[in-house]
Amino acid sequence: MFTPTNKLIDLLPYFKEKLTDLYGEREVENMFYWCCEAQYGLSKIEVRIGEQRLSESELLEIRQVVKRLEKSEPFHYIIGETEFFDCRIKVDNNVLIPRPETEELVAWVLESLNNHEQLLDIGTGSGCIPIAIKKNAPRLNVFALDVSPEALNMAKASSNLNQVDIHFVEKDILQEDLADLPKFDVIISNPPYVLESDKTQMNTNVLKFEPHLALFVADEDPLLFYKRIGILGLEQLNPKGFLFFEIHESFGKETKIMLEELGYQYVQVKSDMQGKDRMIRCQL
Ligand code: GLN
Repeated sequence: MFTPTNKLIDLLPYFKEKLTDLYGEREVENMFYWCCEAQYGLSKIEVRIGEQRLSESELLEIRQVVKRLEKSEPFHYIIGETEFFDCRIKVDNNVLIPRPETEELVAWVLESLNNHEQLLDIGTGSGCIPIAIKKNAPRLNVFALDVSPEALNMAKASSNLNQVDIHFVEKDILQEDLADLPKFDVIISNPPYVLESDKTQMNTNVLKFEPHLALFVADEDPLLFYKRIGILGLEQLNPKGFLFFEIHESFGKETKIMLEELGYQYVQVKSDMQGKDRMIRCQL
């Protein structure tokens, strides 16, 4: 049994002993160095060559991290942040951990912008989408909406961290319309789209720790949020305005047809890096 000393680098074998069976050696090494970076601001090189020592309370903190990892809690919740499109995004279990597919959606939005001015993200969660967009297109006036006040607090903290100015709005779009907001040139949403019946195939760390409010939609009405946002967009988008969605891989066709029936044009389904239908862009 390995007993940790108070030297930072000596904690690596401790991480390995406790966590390798669960995560594999490479992932454990990565987690160890990310953890040093997040908790102590030390780069991998600094940790490896340095002689940094930890106080008793810091040592305890690290042991707490290992305990939480042993229970399969997502690493990013434990260290409290993640990286998305080169932005630092704060996360806790009130918001989904941003996924790489959503970076692809942001890249598509940025490519599509020309002289647009007003942009809205619906169901913003961690705020990763509007923060990454505002950072890369600072002239845009960016609004971000969510039903959860806890999520909005996290998103605000991340917007401060990234020094971007975003207008946050608390609203339940299933109950209220957007008439109190300005008209938009671009509306984006990555709404809940995982089916209740998909639960059986999901990793327990997602199921146990990530917010179900942000993930799931009933099997009987998988396009619930897409239809509602499509309808809201008819009122709230400027002529030729863009609507962007992240979608469930199985519903590309249905979502496209629904949007065309509502009157949207140039409806384009795009696949993600894994070749799965994952995004939609259309225009009013
Ligand atoms: N892509 C996410 C996942 O696989 C789901 C995101 C969502 O429901 N909007 O967990």
